[in-house]
Amino acid sequence: MSVRQQLLDWIEEERDEIVAFLQGFVQAASPNPPGDTLEAVGHIRQFLDGNDISYRIIDPQPTMPNVVASFDAPGKGRHLVLNGHIDVFPVGTDPKAEGWTQDPWGGDISDGKIYGRGVADMKAGTAASIWTYALLSRVQDKLSGKLTLTCVSDEETFGPWGARYLMEHHPEVHGDCCLNGEPSSPYSVRFGEKGPLWIKITVRTEGGHGAYTHSTQSATRIAAKLIGDLGALEDLEPETPDNVRQALGEGSETADRAMGAGAGAILPKVTLNIGTIQGGLKTNMIPGECTFDADIRLPVGVTKEYVVGEFEKIISTCPEATWEEINFSPPSYCDPYGEMMGILQQNVEELRGFKPQPIVSLGGTDARLWRQRDIPAYVYGPFPHGMGTYDEHVDIEDFLHIVRTHVLSAHDYLTGGE
Ligand SMILES: [Zn+2]
Repeated sequence: MSVRQQLLDWIEEERDEIVAFLQGFVQAASPNPPGDTLEAVGHIRQFLDGNDISYRIIDPQPTMPNVVASFDAPGKGRHLVLNGHIDVFPVGTDPKAEGWTQDPWGGDISDGKIYGRGVADMKAGTAASIWTYALLSRVQDKLSGKLTLTCVSDEETFGPWGARYLMEHHPEVHGDCCLNGEPSSPYSVRFGEKGPLWIKITVRTEGGHGAYTHSTQSATRIAAKLIGDLGALEDLEPETPDNVRQALGEGSETADRAMGAGAGAILPKVTLNIGTIQGGLKTNMIPGECTFDADIRLPVGVTKEYVVGEFEKIISTCPEATWEEINFSPPSYCDPYGEMMGILQQNVEELRGFKPQPIVSLGGTDARLWRQRDIPAYVYGPFPHGMGTYDEHVDIEDFLHIVRTHVLSAHDYLTGGE
């Protein structure tokens, strides 16, 4: 029997254990904020201990530990890193009022779906990484190179204690390629992501009595005009690299399918969201201050300098306005037609009969940290049903498909393709 077939047989035989592992993982609540992942990490440790798999805990912040495991196969080869996060979005104090019909921390199964906060983003994907590591450990004598598992905390708030800490202080987790199971839908593989640039703008004027409009300018009216003018940022033309332009063109329909109609059209564009706005004290007063936050998303091919330059041109028309950057992460990408992309596409075609398309994510993932170091990083995970909202769930068949795809693809990468 081939090693690939052996791996698939194990997934079939241990299907119940794989699903039960994910259920227990969801039940071990790890909302961030506050980001305490000790219980969920305990669940991973119990599994690794039970399978005699050695690992390290790296916890620069004691309530946010990271789990790292590595094995060297006997043959010389490349180093593949599996990465997933353990923390998840929070749930409000009254889940029912938010629309939850299932217990967000119950991990209940109904109609072939597992429900719970974080099951799609991204405990199913992290569970796939953990099982990939466990199953490949059993056949490590038949592989070449090195496999590393990194399960990290502190992803959801872009915190410093998870993957960022590992990448900065533990270069042994860099590797030659990274595979991540963040939600993507089975129809797409993510080779890049847009970069958020957050700016806080403050408009100040004298302010005054609401009837004395001749005496001072209104900070809120200036802000409203500025917000309208900032819309011009969405018309900027990015200098998209040729291979990315080709992939985004080919993947536009797939992006609509994975992220909703219209997603394909904005992947190569700058987008603007005014996330918050505050101004004024009272109906009959002219506001002397108005602040708002702009959430600008940069596509691949647009630099921060370029966008900030255009932003400054607009803002400079308004001497009453000042601004400060509050967050930035550059857009990231790797080769949309790279080796791991080909391996993933081939395995999905073999398992499901279709070829997932290379596309870029709208949101951010830790995969960017590898790409920023010129290490190719690809994301292939389940469909994000209810992500960030109520009744988050994953189809069990989708989850098992992600497990199979990650297991076979890691195997193929560590054997140079068989
Ligand atoms: Zn995530």
